[in-house]
Amino acid sequence: MPAQSPSPERTRLERLNALLERTRATNQFQRQRLPELPLASLEDLKRVPLVSKEMLVADQAARPPYGTNLSFGPEQFTQLHRTSGTRGPVLMILNTTEDWGWWRRCMAVVLRAAGIGPGDRVALAYSFGPYLLFWASYEGVDEVGAARVGLGGMDSLQRLHALREFEATAVLCTPTYAVHLAQVAAQHGQLDAFNSVQRIVCSGEPGASIPAVRARIEAGWEARCFDHAGLSEVGAATYPCAEAGGLHILEEEFIAEIVDPTSAQPVRDGAVGELVLTALGRFGSPAIRYRTGDVVDCHEEPCPAGHSGRWLPRGVLARSDDMVVIRGMNVFPSAIEQTMREVAEIGEFRITFYTEATAMDEVKVEVELERAEDVRAIQTGLRRQLGLRVRIVPLKPGILPASTDKARRVVDLRPLAK
Ligand SMILES: [Zn+2]
Repeated sequence: MPAQSPSPERTRLERLNALLERTRATNQFQRQRLPELPLASLEDLKRVPLVSKEMLVADQAARPPYGTNLSFGPEQFTQLHRTSGTRGPVLMILNTTEDWGWWRRCMAVVLRAAGIGPGDRVALAYSFGPYLLFWASYEGVDEVGAARVGLGGMDSLQRLHALREFEATAVLCTPTYAVHLAQVAAQHGQLDAFNSVQRIVCSGEPGASIPAVRARIEAGWEARCFDHAGLSEVGAATYPCAEAGGLHILEEEFIAEIVDPTSAQPVRDGAVGELVLTALGRFGSPAIRYRTGDVVDCHEEPCPAGHSGRWLPRGVLARSDDMVVIRGMNVFPSAIEQTMREVAEIGEFRITFYTEATAMDEVKVEVELERAEDVRAIQTGLRRQLGLRVRIVPLKPGILPASTDKARRVVDLRPLAK
């Protein structure tokens, strides 16, 4: 009889134990967090306390510049990045050559799931600063054997020109930028720049798993739109579900848990919770039970196509720190966006949370509308979705600043808001 291959569960446990053993030997930050090893089951991982970005930021501030979540000497780290800083303090991100190879392979899984491979010409519409996503994407395209074109340092018209010139078959960008570039192309009569483009992979912010956003991008580009969500601090942890939409956890390389952001206990099937990840292939600066801050559905059923890896049917719904409690209701700005896009053709928007003189918390949405009469549809939609009455201020298109990178569209003016 042939030897039985180890179960995926067994393999994951062995890899986890190997990671934890290596980490405990040399990593000052992680050492005191880790329990007796080896772990007897994946369930035992719950004995490790959760770690948050704030804890890593505090560690780096106490021991600048890189902190103590390092398993090797500084000379071993060949890839230096930082978080973008649009959401709170900057975190330095270090990877060894070995870890960077693992990033490449994970990104390749993402791109293959979107149908990208040899023969594709992939344009990366990113600014190419020190933010990890740009470079990991660039590596991933190389790993799948496709050709790559970096579109850093260019404005939108130059990028349209480059897409035409290189006959790009795929584009990587943020979902906000995909919407923006389609608008620019339409305004300048340059929609033919998209003729060769068949696929767009959106990452860097949630959006491309929102059906209304995806539909808008697909209509603007006449191409298929795929989502990806990863974190510089952890890895390229999700790949798109080409059949049913949304995302899958890349469970060969990550252990995922979904917990209540407040109690940190696992949430039940059908609820939403915060994604907690452990990266199995990252040794230099490990991510072990890392609170991603990403709010996702806890959906136990596999996707209809039967792909491996936990299915997140709506992708990343929101950031846990974006959740605002207004008159007892949990409100996520991304849910407001989704609803508006479902019922109306909207441009830029700005959501403001504020407190009335009556001490009641309120929500105001300024939104660019082609047709002012859409206000009523938006109001009705938001009331149904949130259970709240929202004040809508219609604006002419072009009034609000265009958010072309990580969208910053939420203002919280409540005196007690943090
Ligand atoms: Zn699937």
